[in-house]
Amino acid sequence: MRSIVWFRHNLRLSDNPPLYHASREGPVLPVYIWDPSLDTLPDGARKWWLAGSLRALNGQLETHGLTLVLLRGPSEEILFRLARDLQIGAVHAAPGRTPEERRLDLKVSRILSGAGVPFLTESTDYLIAPEFVPEGRSGPWKVFTPFWRFCRSRLSPDSPLPAPAKIAKVPGPRGERLEDWGWDPPVPDWAQTMRRTWRPGEAAALERLELFVAETLAGYGRRRDFPAEDGTSKLSPHLAQGEISPRQIWRKVTESKALEKDREKFLEELGWREFAAHLLRHNPEMLESPLRKIFLNYPWKAEGRGFELWKRGMTGFPLVDAGMRELRLTGGMPNRVRMVAASFLVKNLGISWRSGAAWFAENLVDYDPASNAASWQWVAGCGTDSAPFFRIFNPVLQGERYDPRGEYVRKFVPELARIPDRYLHRPWMISGGSGNCPGDFSSSYPDPFVDLKTSRIAALQAFRRLSTPG
Ligand SMILES: Cc1cc2nc3c(=O)[nH]c(=O)nc-3n(C[C@H](O)[C@H](O)[C@H](O)COP(=O)(O)OP(=O)(O)OC[C@H]3O[C@@H](n4cnc5c(N)ncnc54)[C@H](O)[C@@H]3O)c2cc1C
Repeated sequence: MRSIVWFRHNLRLSDNPPLYHASREGPVLPVYIWDPSLDTLPDGARKWWLAGSLRALNGQLETHGLTLVLLRGPSEEILFRLARDLQIGAVHAAPGRTPEERRLDLKVSRILSGAGVPFLTESTDYLIAPEFVPEGRSGPWKVFTPFWRFCRSRLSPDSPLPAPAKIAKVPGPRGERLEDWGWDPPVPDWAQTMRRTWRPGEAAALERLELFVAETLAGYGRRRDFPAEDGTSKLSPHLAQGEISPRQIWRKVTESKALEKDREKFLEELGWREFAAHLLRHNPEMLESPLRKIFLNYPWKAEGRGFELWKRGMTGFPLVDAGMRELRLTGGMPNRVRMVAASFLVKNLGISWRSGAAWFAENLVDYDPASNAASWQWVAGCGTDSAPFFRIFNPVLQGERYDPRGEYVRKFVPELARIPDRYLHRPWMISGGSGNCPGDFSSSYPDPFVDLKTSRIAALQAFRRLSTPG
């Protein structure tokens, strides 16, 4: 039987059930669709990565004599036309991850079934597909720890599938050229540092996993919070585009000889990704709206100048600024710094988590709707299982604790490169608190935009008013 394999968030050949099964049943037409109805974000780091990922996938398909057919338009119409014109017996795909994508799945399924073509979906993105995670005693899980305890005790993911040995080809249309989609950076090329930092594609993902397990997994629990250390896997962008599957990662990590506590800590982080997907499955409004409804009335400030300074890494707080500049330069930011930068925006600047989440979505190479919204809501205190609102990260203390020698800050905030360690996270102190740093050190680095203590108190008061009836 001839099939279409519709590639979505599973841009790889190995452990790809839709591709594996379709290729065993007969010839395959591999298709990727750029559907403008789903593409509401501005082009940015994510698109840069996606373009690299599609090129890498096409290169792999070419070794089997196939070409990835790129098409643009409404997915359901494109799939229907292809199925009708090419006498296709089935369309195989991974199911949608977001509420919008799931609505699209229903449309595709309806239209194809009208033509007698089954739409067959198989999950490839999670250890347990969110729709198959049994609910807790009182409904869908709301708190991570019991969710993960439950999943971990039952979890034995199936073995990853190999890449198909042979894939026969359905001759199809030529499709569009990626160069014509405008996803590559224009001149001047803003993606230079990204290109030096990352390599999209399945081969790079598998290499990164090998390297992480061989060199970094031992010590992961101890080092993961220190942004200057190369202490985490950096697999998130590969996972976001499905260049690697969580069960491939699971298999490699559980078979490694690293200490159990490092392995378990790492698997727990993958668990947070599963938890975010579970939350989104049961709370489709979560991308836009706080899970704790009381926060609908929180008096967020307008974005204004504070937001601009935060985005540009010019708030005057070195750890926040280093993180925000790293984001713009590379499309990445370590988890600890994401938490501190997000807390600063929401609690010290009083700007809504939704503004921050939108900026991250535009700039992260690993943007994942569920993980991004769940993490922002966790930091803002408006998620079902979140840091309590009164837990406000202090960017100075966090910097001193997690970047004590300032290696991370110095890398991304060159104005502070020569400042002595003891002033690094509070550069305004160098002149005895006058606010002016002597030119020798950091004349171009800004003074703090807000007072940490006053803004913290204001946030706590706003929250208290919110939670006090009447
Ligand atoms: C405000 C904020 C926004 C975030 N937005 C995203 C996002 O859009 N996409 C994204 O993948 N992660 C997001 N995260 C989670 C986390 O910061 C990144 O997954 C992590 O930094 C990726 O680096 P790594 O691959 O080296 O992680 P590792 O420490 O090596 O972890 C392994 C994998 O576990 C998963 N993971 C780790 N921490 C989390 C977490 N807290 N939530 C969900 N999954 C996690 C990731 O898939 C990661 O690749 C966000 C965190 C915060 C605080």
